Amino acid sequence: MRQQTFFSPTMRDIPADAESKSHQLMIRAGLMRQTAAGIYSYLPIGTRVLRKIEAIVREEMDRTGAQELLMPAIQPAELWEESGRLDDYGPELMRLNDRHERRFVLGPTHEEVITSLIRDGVHSYKRLPLYVYQIQTKYRDERRPRFGLLRGREFIMKDAYSFEPSEEALDRTYNVMYEAYTNIFKRCGLDFRAVEADAGAIGGTGGTHEFMALADIGEDTIAYSDQSEFAANVEIAPTPQPSEKQEGTLKALNTENGAASADEVALRMDQDVPTVIHARLFYIEEAPVLILTRGDHEISDVKVGNFFDTLHVKEATPREIEQKFGASAEFIGPVDAPANVKIIADHAIRPLVSAICGGNKRELFYTNVAHGRDFEVEAFADIRMIQEGDSSPDGKGFVQFAEGIEVGQVFKLGTKYSEALGASFLDENGKSAPMQMGCYGIGISRTLAAIVEQNHDNDGIIWPKAIAPFDLHLLVINPKDEAQLTLAENLYEVLQSEGFDVLYDDRKERAGVKFKDADLYGLPIRIAAGKKASEGIVEVKDRKTGEMTEVQAQDLAAYLK
Ligand code: ATP
Ligand code: MG
Ligand code: MG
Ligand code: MG
Repeated sequence: MRQQTFFSPTMRDIPADAESKSHQLMIRAGLMRQTAAGIYSYLPIGTRVLRKIEAIVREEMDRTGAQELLMPAIQPAELWEESGRLDDYGPELMRLNDRHERRFVLGPTHEEVITSLIRDGVHSYKRLPLYVYQIQTKYRDERRPRFGLLRGREFIMKDAYSFEPSEEALDRTYNVMYEAYTNIFKRCGLDFRAVEADAGAIGGTGGTHEFMALADIGEDTIAYSDQSEFAANVEIAPTPQPSEKQEGTLKALNTENGAASADEVALRMDQDVPTVIHARLFYIEEAPVLILTRGDHEISDVKVGNFFDTLHVKEATPREIEQKFGASAEFIGPVDAPANVKIIADHAIRPLVSAICGGNKRELFYTNVAHGRDFEVEAFADIRMIQEGDSSPDGKGFVQFAEGIEVGQVFKLGTKYSEALGASFLDENGKSAPMQMGCYGIGISRTLAAIVEQNHDNDGIIWPKAIAPFDLHLLVINPKDEAQLTLAENLYEVLQSEGFDVLYDDRKERAGVKFKDADLYGLPIRIAAGKKASEGIVEVKDRKTGEMTEVQAQDLAAYLK
């Protein structure tokens, strides 16, 4: 590719709105441009890297026996009604109507569509197991799109789905996919960890793991043992020894004695699934308790009742949160409740509650609360969020924390979608049963950003070989110099015929500009035809180590192999 007409504009200055390194570098190195908030155009160089990542993903998915297909981005809302997710998914789901007022959604994921396809096309155990995948654009109206491709509203995902006749078969496939993911992220040159995780909006009852690329900018915190395989998203990591279970009856204050009004306090959260939490005050056997549940409207800055005069909910600044909770400031709305107030949270919002209260080392209780005034709490265990320095839940070593970017997740779905949408099969005995499902996602565009996040220096990107947009960057330092130009033009042809993918800087720019752009682009090897061109010598630079070597042009292809 001749750089003279290559559409990949570089930028010297750091774009003002780009907070993460990957976002800055991907704009500066001309990989992409923002078209709207959280929505990007991939320029040629960015597209090349995407294709490289996709090729690795395709190879590893094909190896598992999965078949590639392509489903529509636009999906009928009815399918989402059938699964129950039209409401459950919340405001992240982008909805639209056609000219006949028929309702559609822009797919954030494809469990509904694929399950309906399999329901209509597969009826016998003889056709199982079946694995399919696609690489496709997804839409999520994220509350805060940010960090460039790390959290977009339109992004590229590889999503795979497995359909099995039994739980044992699902377990086996899950392991196969887990291995495939390990291979993919290794081949992409990522430093990552697989961690136990929470199923979130996808749901399902089986196991799930997230693949986390380690990076300070990561929005997830991983708890891991320094001496064993234990690793979990802190969202789900309880302390090793939960205290004894308790029982009690919950009574809403307002219905019983009016001692305090059961005002609803809504906390605006900076998290995906429910954006609002309701907080209600109750007694459990005389002791004040704050119950947090999912809600659908928000009230801020509310004082609740005389007894709870000190209970004050407000939107805190990130700085305040950091000071008060000693935790990441990427959420808002801490509950500043008196120490004698216990907090019970609906299991569905557990990740959010751990975010607001976890850093405060409060006691937290989780339960499946039924909305309502008087209701029973069956039993709930005392769960304190895991802390750094705790002994590891498996008893081996101590817990450490690290920040991670979720680049992929594998789920055992069980029969959640196959039951809701009626995807069943006849087994060997002619008996009908719902299929066992798994789903497996990789954020392709997020992976690209995560790779940049881990592979750069002050001068630019440093591409791992396997996914570099080109193999070589060839520069002619002074194109007006006959010897330099002839040598570079000749090498451009020769290196391509030797099978290298070459970006050739044939521009009439100063040497300094060319070198700076080369570092910014970050191709693994730079070859410069400069002063010694007349002696047939080029300068070869390794982008990663910075090592420079002079090589005779006729030996170059052999030297590079
Ligand atoms: P997150 O916790 O970061 O919001 P998620 O758990 O909602 O992600 P999944 O539903 O598990 O995401 O989707 C599969 C993969 O898609 C994720 O592991 C991630 O790599 C990618 N992904 C999800 N949301 C986004 C997004 N907004 N922008 C880019 N990639 C995303
Ligand atoms: Mg999400
Ligand atoms: Mg997640
Ligand atoms: Mg996930």
